[in-house]
This record gives sequence, C-alpha cells and structure tokens, in this order.
Amino acid sequence: MGEDALDRVIQLVARLPGLGPRSARRAVLFLLKRRESLMLPLATALSDAANLVRNCAICGNLDATDPCAVCRDVKRDGAVICVVEDVADLWALERAMAFSGRYHVLGGTLSALDGRGPEDLDIAGLVARAKAPAVGEIVIATSATVEGQTTAHYIADRLADCGVKVSRLAQGVPIGGELDYLDDGTLAAALKARRTM
Ligand SMILES: [Zn+2]
Repeated sequence: MGEDALDRVIQLVARLPGLGPRSARRAVLFLLKRRESLMLPLATALSDAANLVRNCAICGNLDATDPCAVCRDVKRDGAVICVVEDVADLWALERAMAFSGRYHVLGGTLSALDGRGPEDLDIAGLVARAKAPAVGEIVIATSATVEGQTTAHYIADRLADCGVKVSRLAQGVPIGGELDYLDDGTLAAALKARRTM
C-alpha cells in the first residue's frame, strides 16, 4: 500500500514538463523529508488551485476570479489587446511590466502537423472583441516560430475587416524564440518596436 502510494506520486510527478522518472524520484524524496513544511502545504495548495482557478471568460487567462484580475483592472488601457499563444506568455509580459493593455490567449498555434486548426484556438472570441468600438489596436505576440508566424498572418487576415490597427512584435524576438523564455528587457523592447502588419 505504502509503496503503491509512493509509486503513484512519482509516476505523476514524472509527467511534469522537464522532469523524468529520475528527477521525479528525487523531487518526491525531497518532499517526503519535508513532510510538514513543504509536502502537506503543497498538497493543499495544489488542491485549492485545482478547485478554484478557472480560465477567464474574456481573455483566457488563469485566475481564481472570472473575469481575471487583468480584465477587472480599470486602470488598464482597453483600446489595445495583446494576443498571446499561452497563459505563460501573458504572465511573461506581465512580469516584464511592458504592457498596460488587455490580453487575449489563443490556446496554442495553428499547426498542420499536430492537426490544430482555427476552430481549436480562440480566434472567434478575438474577432468579436476586436469589433468593439473601444478597441483600436491588436498586437499579435505569437512566437517567432514558423507556427507562430503562420498564426499571426492568419489572425491578421481575419482581423482585416474589423477596423483595428494590427501590429506584430518585431525586434528582439529571435527566430524560433518562444516568448516565455525571453528576458524581461528583450520582451519590453520587442513590444515597443512592434510594427503594423
Ligand atoms: Zn481576463
């Protein structure tokens, strides 16, 4: 019984990105040695987050409230919406403190290889938001990968009739670069140097 419970935790932890069975065993042993100070608080925090955190119905961000804190913040500029692939990219831009508008999380990129089409991403929601009179600019901040570029061009086409300016992150984002891995300064520079599509 005890061994089964341990195996199960190790197997689950091994499924996290960047971890394999070996690092999972080390992590679980680390936790077991700090049962009161780390393992039990972590178990409670995980359970709370799993029960409370939801996708924001407006932008797709993850938060314990819906709408999320970014969408509820009246001090943010509602005229500019920054389009990102994933919540991790939204959080990276927030960490860089380079953007004070709103966001829209697509939920991935278009990918013929993985069979992801427009209907698998929240593009319809973005088009609807772009048509609001208060919105003047859409900044497309997808990665500089082939799939990110393809997605950016597809979105720019879809937004062509919405009466908004469409721009794209430019300098500083290396080819093949994913947003979440950029340092804050590079991200801020890329956002400032965005160009009209
Ligand atoms: Zn939101």
